[in-house]
Order: sequence, then C-alpha cells, then structure tokens
Amino acid sequence: MLHIVACIKQVPDTKVIKMNPKTNTMDRASAPAILNPYDAHAVEEAVRLKNKYGGTVSVVTMGPPPAVKAIRKCIEIGADEGYMISDRAFAGADTLATSYALTKAINKISEIKPVDLIICGKMTIDGDTGQVGPGIARRLDIPPLTSVNKVVEINKEDGNMVVHRKLEDGYEVVQTTLPCLLSVEKEINEVPYSSFPNMLKAARYQPVIWSVNDLEDIDRKQLGLKGSPTIVAKVWAPPKPEGGKLLEGNADEQVQQLLSVVLERKELFAEMRGSK
Ligand SMILES: Cc1cc2nc3c(=O)[nH]c(=O)nc-3n(C[C@H](O)[C@H](O)[C@H](O)COP(=O)(O)OP(=O)(O)OC[C@H]3O[C@@H](n4cnc5c(N)ncnc54)[C@H](O)[C@@H]3O)c2cc1C
Repeated sequence: MLHIVACIKQVPDTKVIKMNPKTNTMDRASAPAILNPYDAHAVEEAVRLKNKYGGTVSVVTMGPPPAVKAIRKCIEIGADEGYMISDRAFAGADTLATSYALTKAINKISEIKPVDLIICGKMTIDGDTGQVGPGIARRLDIPPLTSVNKVVEINKEDGNMVVHRKLEDGYEVVQTTLPCLLSVEKEINEVPYSSFPNMLKAARYQPVIWSVNDLEDIDRKQLGLKGSPTIVAKVWAPPKPEGGKLLEGNADEQVQQLLSVVLERKELFAEMRGSK
C-alpha cells in the first residue's frame, strides 16, 4: 500500500488579480484564493495512483488559516487526509524557508505513516519559481523528477517507479527508486468534477493543523523572513502594450501605408534579421 503526499498551495487567482499601481505589488484582496491549478493535477495523480495500487493520499500545505479551503478542495478531488502548518514564524518565507518548513512537516507525516512518494505541482501561479519541490527532495535526500507528464508504473516491492519526463522535443523514460519526489505538468491528467460524496466529506473536513511548536528538531533561524536569503530588489508591472495602428482606405491605400511603415522601420527589421 502506498502513502502519497501531495504538496499544495493556496494562491490568488492571477487571472483576475489587480496590481497596486503605487506599490507595483499584487493586491491579493482583489482576487479570490484558489487551489494552485498545478497542485490540483498533483492531487488528482496521487488519487489515481491510490486507486490503481491501493494506499492513502495526504496533502500538506504551509499557509495562513484560510488555506484550509484549499485542503478541502483536495478532499473533494479524493485526498484522504490534510495537514497544514500555520504559524507567524513561517511568514515571509522564500522558497528556501518554504522547502525547509515543508520538509519538517513531511517528516512528521512520515512518523504517522511512512511516505513512499511526494508529488508537487510544476510551479505556483503566483510565485512561479518551481523551486519548492526540488528543495524538499534535496533536504530529504531523495531523487527529484521534474516536468513529469506520465507515471508509467510503480513497483513498491522492488522499490522503484517509471515516469515520463517532458523534454522540449519529446520525452524521456526514467526509472527511479522510491521514495522520490515528482513535480508534475498539467497535461499529466484531467481533473474531473468532484463527486457529490466527496463534496459532502470536504465540506465537513477539518485538517490537522500544526504550529511551529509541533514540528520536531526545528531550527527557527531557517524559517520565515529570517530564513529567507532572497532579496526582491525591485518589483514593477510590465508596461501596457501600445495599441496597433489601423490601416484605412481601400486595398491600394492600405498597402501604401503598410509599405511606408516597413520603410520607416527598415533598420529595425534589418537588426532583427541580423540577430537571428
Ligand atoms: C523575500 C520573500 C518574502 C516572501 N514573503 C511572502 C509572504 O509573506 N507571503 C506569501 O504568500 N509569499 C511570500 N513570498 C513568496 C514565497 O516565497 C513563495 O510563494 C513560496 O516560497 C513558494 O514558492 P513558489 O510560489 O515559487 O512555489 P513553486 O516552487 O513554484 O511551487 C512548486 C510546488 O511546490 C509546492 N508548494 C509551493 N509552496 C507551497 C506551500 N506553501 N505549501 C505546500 N506546497 C507548496 C506546490 O506543489 C507547488 O506546485 C515571499 C518571497 C520572497 C522572496
């Protein structure tokens, strides 16, 4: 029986989020908080593997109290247990501190039931670094496999599994030992609509919540802002693209206008050809 842990994060929906034009930071209150879309695929894959090989799916998140909603979404998808680490001590964490805290949480989950496989999303839609998964694997000293778009098979008895890793021009087939950590692409599966029983279970579900004091053998200097060497030197919003020019008149007149634009910019076009 497998014990699979999916790492999940609640993020602001970046499709609707507004930027504060004065501070050039995200106005997080302007957007609903959702389960990171890549993480929904991570949980769905864990559930599919559980259904195929038998076992349990746990999800874990580091976040503020409202992140319980993201855990409930995972229960809807089919996860069995949810764990959340939430404490002011974790606030302001960069990817190094995030992976440290999550590793401590996964160690604690392992004490409850040894973990065979950890699945992360490829990246989050707000932080977008893709560093947390490999960071956890490095700290646990297990193989990290990024850009996974198919799990071919798991042989728990032999202690290995085979996956496809997406490459620019195809994929590679990789065999690895268990336990290991996968970061998965969205194309690995389709997340179906939740079943009614799962929705009912999720609505009532209370995850296990741990504070920093519940994690063993923890070095507080490696947590939160204190443990985050990343410096965000400058943040700015990309300039709005200029609107295109509409050509007017009949076809001949439009061609003339187009030619004059091309001639005006011929040096730019020559430069572009030269840079190829
Ligand atoms: C100096 C600094 C201060 C910051 N302060 C804050 C802050 O106060 N509040 C804030 O929200 N963000 C803050 N951030 C952003 C924060 O560092 C990142 O959001 C976080 O470390 C995760 O990185 P990421 O979003 O790039 O995740 P990625 O590396 O892109 O995520 C990959 C995968 O890792 C897993 N994962 C990532 N984060 C989590 C998580 N929290 N729990 C469980 N699984 C996870 C998911 O499976 C995800 O798909 C700060 C960043 C910096 C540099």
